[in-house]
Order: sequence, then C-alpha cells, then structure tokens
Amino acid sequence: MSAKILSGKDVAAAVRADVAARVAELSRRGKTVGLATVLVGDDPASQVYVRNKHRAAQAVGMLSIDEHLPATATQDEVEAVVERLNADRRVDGMIVQLPLPAGLDGQAVVERVDPAKDADGLHPFNLGLLVLDRPGPIPATPGGIMEILRFYDIATAGRTAVVVGRSFLVGRPMALLLGAKGTDATVVQAHSRTPNLAEVCRTADILVAAVGRPELFDASYVKPGAVVIDVGINRTDAGLVGDVDRDAVAEVAGAITPVPGGVGPMTIASLLANTVMLAERRSASGN
Ligand code: NDP
Repeated sequence: MSAKILSGKDVAAAVRADVAARVAELSRRGKTVGLATVLVGDDPASQVYVRNKHRAAQAVGMLSIDEHLPATATQDEVEAVVERLNADRRVDGMIVQLPLPAGLDGQAVVERVDPAKDADGLHPFNLGLLVLDRPGPIPATPGGIMEILRFYDIATAGRTAVVVGRSFLVGRPMALLLGAKGTDATVVQAHSRTPNLAEVCRTADILVAAVGRPELFDASYVKPGAVVIDVGINRTDAGLVGDVDRDAVAEVAGAITPVPGGVGPMTIASLLANTVMLAERRSASGN
C-alpha cells in the first residue's frame, strides 16, 4: 500500500485565502487587522519562525508588528512589552515566540497576554475554554491538524485516535479537540511512560505523533490503513525529519502528513485564522 499524502501546504493555502477575504472585509469596514510578535534573543530557528509569521501576516493583508528584545532582556522588560501590546489598539493578536532564552519564564510571559489577543491560544484562560468545549482561539498546531482532517474529509466520530505526546502546546489540546463533542473520536493520550507504545499505537485509526524523536514511529506502530499525522520537526544530519519513518509507514498507512509540508504550514495558517477571529470579535464588540 502507498499512503495518500495529506498536503498541509494545500490546506494552509485554503485557510490563508479565507483569512485574506475576512481581513479584506474588515478593512472595508475601516478595521485593520494587526498581529504582533515578541521575540527575545537570537535563536536562529525562532528568528526564521517569526520572519515567516510576519511574511504570512502581510500576505493576507494584516499589519505585522515586530518586537525583538535582546537575550539579555529581563523578565520585567519582556512582560512590559507584552503589556504595551495589550494596550495597543492596532494589535488584535499577539504571539510570544517560545522557548524564551534560559533564565526567563515563558509561561509567566504567556500569562501576561490579554486572552482576547492570544493568537496562539495558549493563555490558561483560553486553554480553559478548550476544556469547557467553548469557542476561543485554539492552539495553532492542533487547530491546524483539525483543519487537515476536515479538508481531507477524514472521519473522526467513533474512531480511535492515539495522540502520543502530552505537551500543553500540542499533545494535550490535540487530545481535547479529537475527543470534543461533534468530533467524537475515542482518544488515548500516550507519553514517555506509556508501556508497549507500539501496541497502543496499533489500535489507532488516527495516530498523532508529537514527541520530538526522529523517526521513532516505524511501521510496527501503525495499523494498516490508519491516518498518520506527523507533528515532529527534528533537525538531523540527514536534514529535517519528522517523528515518523515516512517511507516505511507509507507502506502500511492509509494517509500520512509529510515533513516538511504537512503540519508545519498549518501552524502559521491557524495563527492567522485565530488573529482574524479575534479581530472580528473586537470589531463586533466595538472595541
Ligand atoms: P515536548 O518536548 O514539550 O513534549 C514531547 C512529548 O512527547 C512529551 O509529552 C513526552 O512525554 C513525549 N515523549 C517524548 N519521548 C517519548 C517517547 N520515546 N515515547 C513516547 N512519548 C514520548 O514537545 P512538543 O509537544 O512541543 O513538540 C513535539 C514535536 O512537535 C517536536 O518535534 C516539535 O518540534 C514539534 N512541533 C512541531 C510544530 C509544527 O508546527 N509542526 C509545532 C510545535 C511542535 P512526557 O510528557 O512523559 O515527557
């Protein structure tokens, strides 16, 4: 069997087109949509991510505001920038690029972000809304994965989903979304302490691999015909690879997201979708 490739690039293009139309509609009503990023230090990967976010924001017609602090910035200085952006009327959505340099508390900074401007959906208030099954900005990576499933018409109701990884960024919100009312998968959340991981994964109709271990998931982890979502981004001597051994798994799976070009492009698209949604809410409430 050769698995169908689920192209995140194609889905991201559709999401970006929808966002651009909504940004244009707000603009017709006199509202410019603004996305701000907060970057601290000179980590090359973080700089690339932030640059890509600005490019993507500008391409859909958003104003993008770039706050770059030196690695020597103090916790108070970083939080002061977030407070300033909270008060900045041009800003509808904000992201704090994580991880922050050693010595800074990224979680405390995220908690300073006004939940109404939380484009990453990572503020505890918004994570709480997710737990309560109420609408709000959804963490960008799992939100993007849900878009991939919808775009390719992949059924979730009554199917078993195994999510490997339980970070607040990916694994935990992913499990909540898959198990939410209306999506209705039966969800297993696995992690580094899960015994017999391959056996557990073989129960999955939908397998989400979000662990950060290059090509850990080989064919023995995959039920024939399963949908495999590879979240991992691992930089190795052989280049960028996912958590899934793609060539081997493609022989068994029914469908698979590639790395690169799968989940990655969706993360930025979801960030833009969250930002325009927050802008629409502000506009509707007259703020
Ligand atoms: P974290 O390191 O925060 O979490 C990793 C999770 O995987 C933990 O829950 C950990 O378990 C679990 N884990 C680690 N090793 C194993 C193992 N051998 N077997 C089973 N479970 C294991 O990572 P993130 O969630 O932030 O990211 C995961 C991956 O996704 C990374 O490669 C990251 O680069 C990538 N990523 C990709 C994005 C994209 O846009 N495509 C966006 C965000 C992340 P435990 O809790 O027990 O320690």
